[in-house]
Amino acid sequence: MSDREATASTGSGARSPGFGTLAVHAGAAPEPVTGAIMVPVFLTSTYVQEAPARHKGYEYSRSGNPTRTALEKAIARLEAPEDDAPTGLCFSSGLGATDTVMKLLSRGDHVVAGNDLYGGTYRLFTTVYERFGLEFTFVDTADAAAVEAAFRPETRLLWIESPSNPLLRIADLSRLAALARARSALSVVDGTFATPCLQRPFDHGIDVVLHSTTKYLGGHSDVVGGAVVVRDRELGERLRFLQNAAGAVPGPLDCFLVHRGIKTLHLRVERHCANATRVAAWLAGDRRVARVHYPGLPEHPGHEVAKRQMRGGFGGMVSFEIAGAGVEEAKRFCSATRVFSLAESLGGVESLIEHPPSMTHASIPPEVRRRSGLADGLIRLSVGIEDPDDLIADLDASFKAM
Ligand SMILES: *Cc1c(COP(=O)(O)O)cnc(C)c1O
Repeated sequence: MSDREATASTGSGARSPGFGTLAVHAGAAPEPVTGAIMVPVFLTSTYVQEAPARHKGYEYSRSGNPTRTALEKAIARLEAPEDDAPTGLCFSSGLGATDTVMKLLSRGDHVVAGNDLYGGTYRLFTTVYERFGLEFTFVDTADAAAVEAAFRPETRLLWIESPSNPLLRIADLSRLAALARARSALSVVDGTFATPCLQRPFDHGIDVVLHSTTKYLGGHSDVVGGAVVVRDRELGERLRFLQNAAGAVPGPLDCFLVHRGIKTLHLRVERHCANATRVAAWLAGDRRVARVHYPGLPEHPGHEVAKRQMRGGFGGMVSFEIAGAGVEEAKRFCSATRVFSLAESLGGVESLIEHPPSMTHASIPPEVRRRSGLADGLIRLSVGIEDPDDLIADLDASFKAM
């Protein structure tokens, strides 16, 4: 957000605006020619130059596009509102963002990563980057001692998801950031589940924040995208170089959709959190349920850390295990809901249900999954913003139908 935008949105440049104001205004200055309040969708691949290498800041749309610039500024501002010039970079998918971060590394480098990760991240690390000579150790990042023990002299990166997918484990970001820094390794947080609305990893000393904007930032299940934000300028320039060199950039219409989604992020997240809290409490009190994973529940092992490092709620993701149920029962349950749609992905306004072992996390070998605590009968919910009574009634009816 420029000074002009900050002034427009708070009435004075002196106080830094609240999250809702940033969500609505960040990156979105009125278009200078017409005054259009929405950033136009610049459907162009190239830009006419006045003389060779003399141009208005844009040369080719892989390197930069004004619709993308607006989104990149917005996400950077949401993650680092106090910084002068954080670097925000957008990608054609969350995995495109992850892939670009991994290109900071070189053959022989070692990565410590959570053992409860988005399945596609695990797949990229083990099937692609291991072939390129990177080495990975997967540990429970909720256990700081285990993370510390996994470090080697050649460890260059610590990859954290918090809350994690699908077990909603909570990593102590301040502790892990300090651990990585002391060993000259970069710390990365995939903050897709929390969004900048609930958690700001930079406040805890984390170096790189990553999002699948497909999820809560877009928020309407109509676009695939990713983003990376860093505060360090030199690191930002290295990543900007890689973004352009590798080219996993989003198109302008995709950027427009994500940016529009961000304008209501705070309202949606508030309702996602309230609904998920209701659903998790209902599941936890039901005898048909063996375990509920939701960091907002006082009995969740990461609850105290989550309370400290998240603000305003614990997110919209809940996972649970049905008592005595295996794969077949879990699949039947997922097929029986009517308000919850059976689908991969998360973070949209509509509630989704899925079975991680056979869907989002099927690319993780069964024995690796089980070792990480991911039960064969686990069910994951992305709790939407519908009326919570309807969501609970739907789950109740599924128990009866299975
Ligand atoms: C979906 C997801 C990703 C991957 O993002 P895509 O946009 O699907 O490529 C990465 N991390 C988490 C936590 C996710 O949920």
